[in-house]
Amino acid sequence: MQNTLFFMNYKALRVILILIFTLTSLNSYGHSGASHADEEVNIYSGRKGKLIEPMLEKFTSKTGIKVNLITAKSDALLKRMESEGKSSPADLFITVDVGRLDRAKRMGLLQKINNFSIMNKLSPNYIDKDREWISVSKRIRTVVISKNMKDKNDLKNFEDLTRDQWKGRICVRSSNNIYNQSLVASLIANHGEKKAEKIVKDLVSNFARKPSGNDRAQITAVSKGECDIAIVNHYYYILMLNSKEPEKRKAADLTEVIFLNQDNRGAHVNISGVGIAKYAKNVNNANELISFMLEKDSQEWYAKTNNEYPVIKDAKVSKILSSWGDVKLDELSLNKLGDLNPNAVKLMDRVGWQ
Ligand code: FE
Repeated sequence: MQNTLFFMNYKALRVILILIFTLTSLNSYGHSGASHADEEVNIYSGRKGKLIEPMLEKFTSKTGIKVNLITAKSDALLKRMESEGKSSPADLFITVDVGRLDRAKRMGLLQKINNFSIMNKLSPNYIDKDREWISVSKRIRTVVISKNMKDKNDLKNFEDLTRDQWKGRICVRSSNNIYNQSLVASLIANHGEKKAEKIVKDLVSNFARKPSGNDRAQITAVSKGECDIAIVNHYYYILMLNSKEPEKRKAADLTEVIFLNQDNRGAHVNISGVGIAKYAKNVNNANELISFMLEKDSQEWYAKTNNEYPVIKDAKVSKILSSWGDVKLDELSLNKLGDLNPNAVKLMDRVGWQ
């Protein structure tokens, strides 16, 4: 009898403990509008301040959590986090390109994200397989061509760029750029290394000039007739179209974006993303900020400001992107782009992509 009583009390105690645990974990992740006096979150961002600050201000006014933002080149921030080690103040790392998020992960600078309300908002492909980063927006690496190009209908797939027809007509930046490395990694993932090497070798033999300059410089080169095709991220075209500088607007007016591989695997897609720093002191606040970045309003603002695509389904795309219509995206695992980065770098070196 005594035993039964003890057992019943024990059971009741367990129920109470589980209830308390559930309520406290809900409080750390699920609340909104509660006051967080003295609370803060520290961001190291490879993205420029103006591309995220207004969203961070909204976050602070909603939650009371102060945001401290440090911006610099992504790779410099990674070095800094590495040298700061356990004493690093960074809670969140924001950057572009999955190749770079994966670099942060391989350097051991991120930790597992354990907030499942974040995970439920995204399709699994936009979350690292070890949950060390998640995507915040999508971008497409594609081609911008001259509006005057007579044979534009011959260009449907990335693989078409290997044909003799395009000899001396393609402009692209150098192989040390992470965007190009991820693009080549996607070719390896889709075709296998041997076939990908042949594709990239033939592509390089069609270059109009030695790779130099950034993506915008390639679009300018097309507008000046130095080449007919520029391999670039889609948002640079929009930036030039909306530029205050007449020269840049003119370059955009003379060119157009086309999306490749629309009848097969879809266009090559990459992301901007975020991870929680390995030695973050404000993990709950970091989780809360990530959740906020995935809310519909934040997603629409962030995607529009960066001329990118949102990662959650119910967020609307900007006017210009919606005017371009639906784009079929390559649903290849983003993790593969990170995994195959070293192979891509070596392959590009072998075929002489400078
Ligand atoms: Fe960029």
